[in-house]
Amino acid sequence: MRVFVLLSALLFGASVWGVACGPSSPDESSSEQQTVVDGSQQEGTSSSEQVADNATGNEQAQPPEREPVDNAGTTEQVNPPKDEAPTKDEAPAQDEGSKTKVDFTPIGSRVEEFFKDDKYKSLLIEVDYAKGYKPSQEALDAFKAKLEELRSKSLFKKPGGIQIKIDQEITDQPPAGGWKIADLQQLEFNYRQNMPGGTQAVAYFLYVGGNWHEDSSNGRVLGIAYSGSTMTVFKKTVDDVCSSASIIPGTTQKLCRVVEASIVLHEFAHIIGMTNLGLKMTTNHEDEAHKGHCNNKDCVNYWTNNQSSMAGALGSVIGSAPDVLPFGKECLDDMAAIHNP
Ligand SMILES: [Zn+2]
Ligand SMILES: [Zn+2]
Repeated sequence: MRVFVLLSALLFGASVWGVACGPSSPDESSSEQQTVVDGSQQEGTSSSEQVADNATGNEQAQPPEREPVDNAGTTEQVNPPKDEAPTKDEAPAQDEGSKTKVDFTPIGSRVEEFFKDDKYKSLLIEVDYAKGYKPSQEALDAFKAKLEELRSKSLFKKPGGIQIKIDQEITDQPPAGGWKIADLQQLEFNYRQNMPGGTQAVAYFLYVGGNWHEDSSNGRVLGIAYSGSTMTVFKKTVDDVCSSASIIPGTTQKLCRVVEASIVLHEFAHIIGMTNLGLKMTTNHEDEAHKGHCNNKDCVNYWTNNQSSMAGALGSVIGSAPDVLPFGKECLDDMAAIHNP
């Protein structure tokens, strides 16, 4: 599976929407997973395809595990109830009407479903959020406006429309040791209501408190994408980071809004295949040092290691900043190409 995590380091010395790509440990080089982490992590040689946007990244996000664990006060992964939990092998792979399931498909596996309209005419984005960490409506509006802009240019074909549904409130507490992929998949198993089916494509966003388990003083994860349709926003971290990075009086609200919208768009860009994650490149613009990311620094899908300067730059120009960071030409060209193979 691929996991994309977006780092938080944005504002503080970290890169906000930058995404670095994933690490892999030598002993996992033979696995079939790849991890891409937004942070200082190195591209892994494994093929599990996880991409984590974080600034720390020395560990690799692990695929969900199903063994029983003691969750209390540990960093162990939370497991779905044994009697009901789907396993990776038995998970209904694709959808079609299934309810309350976990999407275990790899990032990039649903690119055609999102961009084209031959199978799915509309897009539903289901958003569940932890108590106290409801999404910013303004941020989601800015994100949706970007999708509508792509739709108006026929880059994103959903004639039936795009709907973002802020759905259930989650009362589960964050794991003591920080979130891991399996924990987030447990929430997905418990709360997700919609899978792709009929004529509707579906993406699933989780907004949670707490923090990514790899967070450190060097960087914190703002968001992560980890399946063909699933991503999580670490809302508490987003709020902490943007508030602290605001340097111009009166601009904190806008800065937080732009950061949140941009993180959502950055992670969603991973889900829909960018960069070189399922959406074919028309030119070679993948950042070699941060796989899964665009090498255009003006693109929302860009990752930079110069986190401090990026944070400072954003905070100092927030007055004239757009509501959400834009896609660069290279990514827009890739989106156009999928419709004209
Ligand atoms: Zn990323
Ligand atoms: Zn780009």
